[in-house]
Amino acid sequence: MTTPNTEDAAAAGKPSRVLVLNSGSSSVKYQLLDMDDRSRLASGLVERIGEETSRLVHTPPAGGGEPRERTGRIADHDEALKAAAEELAADGLGLDSPDLAAIGHRVVHGGLRFTEPTVVTDDVLKEIERLVPVAPLHNPANITGIRTAQALRPDLPQVAVFDTAFHTTMPEYAARYAIDVETADAHRIRRYGFHGTSHAYVSRRAAELLGKEPADVNVIVLHLGNGASASAVAGGRCVETSMGLTPLEGLVMGTRSGDIDPAVTFHLKRVAGMSADEIDVLLNKKSGLVGLCGDNDMREIRRRVDEGDERAALAFDIYVHRLKKYIGAYAAVLGRVDAVVFTAGVGENSAPVREAAIAGLEELGLAVDADLNAVRSGVPRLISPDYARVAVAVVPTDEELEIATQTFALVDN
Ligand code: ADP
Repeated sequence: MTTPNTEDAAAAGKPSRVLVLNSGSSSVKYQLLDMDDRSRLASGLVERIGEETSRLVHTPPAGGGEPRERTGRIADHDEALKAAAEELAADGLGLDSPDLAAIGHRVVHGGLRFTEPTVVTDDVLKEIERLVPVAPLHNPANITGIRTAQALRPDLPQVAVFDTAFHTTMPEYAARYAIDVETADAHRIRRYGFHGTSHAYVSRRAAELLGKEPADVNVIVLHLGNGASASAVAGGRCVETSMGLTPLEGLVMGTRSGDIDPAVTFHLKRVAGMSADEIDVLLNKKSGLVGLCGDNDMREIRRRVDEGDERAALAFDIYVHRLKKYIGAYAAVLGRVDAVVFTAGVGENSAPVREAAIAGLEELGLAVDADLNAVRSGVPRLISPDYARVAVAVVPTDEELEIATQTFALVDN
């Protein structure tokens, strides 16, 4: 056995844990990670905050037993975070621990200013607040989460990790809408993109899977969850993404339409007499797969397709057709593609979606091996045959780990 030297001993005492908070308008997801070995210590979800039916589900560390559940009203984010802190303390992972290095927050909209993870100061909070008009649903909840965490541990660095940051490298010609420049600039209307933490993580892991440096590969990432977005990443930098001013643009999603002729909205207003808010709800909540066939869970849609349900089959075809259009477009944007990578709930789990999206794209060098595609696994893997010119891969995303990694990198000095 070797005796630890002084440097090792000092390192052993350094705080290495990061709490990651993802605060929504009525929910908070949390994960405590140990950055020494990038392990997940515990995690949980508080949902329906402010309602009588609030629920907290806490998953203790491995070997710590079954997930624990609390039900009954949790009034606000402050109570939610305190309840989460109690659960963590019950596992011996209290937030008052000197092992906690920082709290990392997912912040949806960072506008143009935040291109990197940022330690939260009063000025940073003010800027996140200034962005509320372009992210009315998300940024207020993120701000509440940050304030609550600050109150709990005022001594700790709070780090904001922005969903938009990875996309700030998009060239101006990709980020700007072709509308009147003065109007666009006055209202900060441009394409920002979202899911950036996932696109950053997955594109890097894809490079690793190919045995290359991120700087040496061009990849198309398809993040297909309930929300869905594509990105074109050239040499580690995002050059194009499918979401725009808001997450509504781009792919067909669980409940969002994705790309649509903007004139549809005038038509709905003038002809159907709908208000802006009603159209907002229609396009964000009642469209996409749910609007097309009544279901937004790809498992259920596939079950219905297999039973011969025509509406489900059409919804599936529309979903896949849009994906193909984006793969083709991004192949053109990138010029050379090394990999097409599927991630998130649908991308990681739905072999039929992957197969259908790549089918017929042999001219682009793309093919899927049926056996490899059928394998269910939680690790990054190739699903293309050896002969394919372009790799097709499945890379599970891990936004919490990426937020923790970025947070820790900023405070570990
Ligand atoms: P988000 O984070 O956007 O809420 P996820 O990335 O968790 O979403 O993806 C959720 C979606 O993944 C579900 O709506 C469902 O369509 C899909 N999904 C999850 N598991 C499977 C599966 N085994 N097969 C097919 N689709 C799945």
